[in-house]
Amino acid sequence: MKKLLTLASLIILASCGSDKKTDSTSQNQDVNFDSYKERFVEQLWVLYPGWASSIGFHKYDSVLVIPNDAQRNKELAFCKGQLDSLKRFDLKALSDNNKTDYHLIENQLKSTEWYATAFKSHEWNPSDYNVCGSFAEMLANNYDSLDTRLRNFYLKMKNIPAYYETAKQQLKNPTIEHTQLAIDQNLGGASTFDADLKEALNKSHLDAKEKEEILSRAKEATKAITDYADWLKHLKQSTPRSFRLGKDLYDKKFEHDIQSGYTADEIYQKALEHKKELHAKMYDLANTLWDTYFTKPEALTVGVKGFTPKPKDTLLLIKKVIDKISLKHVAADSFQTEIEHQIPRLVQFIKDKNLIYIDPSKPLVVRKEPAYMAGVAGASISSPGPYDKNGNTYYNVGSFSGWEKDRIESYLREYNHYILQILNIHEAIPGHYTQLVYSNQSPSIIKSIFGNGAMIEGWAVYTERMMLENGFGNNQPEMWLMYYKWNLRTTCNTILDYGVHVNNLSKEAALDLLVNQAFQQQAEAEVKWKRVTVTQVQLCSYFTGFKEIYDFREELKKNEGKSFNLKNFHEKFLSYGSAPVKYIKELMVVKE
Ligand code: ZN
Ligand code: ZN
Repeated sequence: MKKLLTLASLIILASCGSDKKTDSTSQNQDVNFDSYKERFVEQLWVLYPGWASSIGFHKYDSVLVIPNDAQRNKELAFCKGQLDSLKRFDLKALSDNNKTDYHLIENQLKSTEWYATAFKSHEWNPSDYNVCGSFAEMLANNYDSLDTRLRNFYLKMKNIPAYYETAKQQLKNPTIEHTQLAIDQNLGGASTFDADLKEALNKSHLDAKEKEEILSRAKEATKAITDYADWLKHLKQSTPRSFRLGKDLYDKKFEHDIQSGYTADEIYQKALEHKKELHAKMYDLANTLWDTYFTKPEALTVGVKGFTPKPKDTLLLIKKVIDKISLKHVAADSFQTEIEHQIPRLVQFIKDKNLIYIDPSKPLVVRKEPAYMAGVAGASISSPGPYDKNGNTYYNVGSFSGWEKDRIESYLREYNHYILQILNIHEAIPGHYTQLVYSNQSPSIIKSIFGNGAMIEGWAVYTERMMLENGFGNNQPEMWLMYYKWNLRTTCNTILDYGVHVNNLSKEAALDLLVNQAFQQQAEAEVKWKRVTVTQVQLCSYFTGFKEIYDFREELKKNEGKSFNLKNFHEKFLSYGSAPVKYIKELMVVKE
């Protein structure tokens, strides 16, 4: 409730501002633009209540929108109206913060139009239709009393049958892959309306009658979900649509989602080149390390046969050395403590080398991953949403409880002594966590909502390399070899994604790329294949952002010569918040 009041009062303040006599000075442009943004966000949440809930704005928690033509037309009308409103502002007169916000809003509106009229996944992706996640969050997150959440849960359930009936009407020619995904995800989430709900009801203070009403409506919800899955299972399709996007749609999606200065094709070419360079560097290192790991007396006593012949095939040689180095890893029970120990070491290193200012008043909290997140990734950062400014930022570390011994060992080898340090750089310092602290200093609700994924991931990937360049890991050849392997993964994600969706890359060739050329485990590669058949473009964001930031830095270094200062570059770059790199570049170059 307190949060709502805050936003409401902001809106009142903002509309007072816009009543003032306007002139063309920049200050007034900014005041007007700020009030425009407030109104824009307010209307956005009316149109997308589910999205609002997911980022912590809970005013419309009880509303489930039915995804029909009328709703889509409303969205299109909204986009048209807002794009007209945007035109009233003189982009050049706005502050840097508002300039980037302007671009983000414009891109959001244009891409919504494009998704609705050209991409049209509502016709071919049955997994677009799934209510389970948003309901599960209402049970799991403690933003309000359980009783209030359950009452909203009840109200929101009302539209579930109509929601899935509409889904059936909207779907025209779904792909086999997305159909299967929709069946798995909907059935997987259905327990939200059964066991999970019952557990929550038991903990609540609702009376027996209310509980009964909720349960009876939950039964209808469950039926609608299972009916939908059943309908999908029996869908007769003689010529299902291909999951591959094709060049035209892919290029456009890349433009809207990544907002890069490069085209999809340019990034693909850069990734191919980069892979070649990485292989060459990795071969040199592995070749040098071979004797240490395979022929020195210490190494010989470990192997039963004694002598391992050096493979002629360069990729095979790299793989053998990587496998050997991966054996150095922490024990399962000290995985989290090791991460906790590394964080202050990273902070100290950055201070010693003068790489970027780290605000000591905002320490990062490392914690065991909470139960409701279990099974996601090994480690992740969770940050407070735009409506929860005082919330903590956590570094969630997965636990191995319930894992088979072999799976734990394989995981620990993957996140071995070297990679674990690179992971901490990426997730925490100076990667995602540091970027977040900086972006909170130029607060922008627009950037919190539409923040650019390629910039965010690109920064984290960039810092891995930057830290090693500055001597983190003492330039040990093992550290560099492992870093290259890690970087090869993001590089090959791009090659894979573009290859599959644009160049018709076969599954066999894709697995060869991942296993033999990027040194991944077969199981990991199979998971990645599945991911690339149901997503598009997102896998490119890491490499694209990395490449753009790295190239930009190198360009500045060249132009500025001796006066280039790495610390200044980092701080300046992050000061614009999570905006697309191409706009940050524009603003930074003009200012220099
Ligand atoms: Zn081991
Ligand atoms: Zn990341």
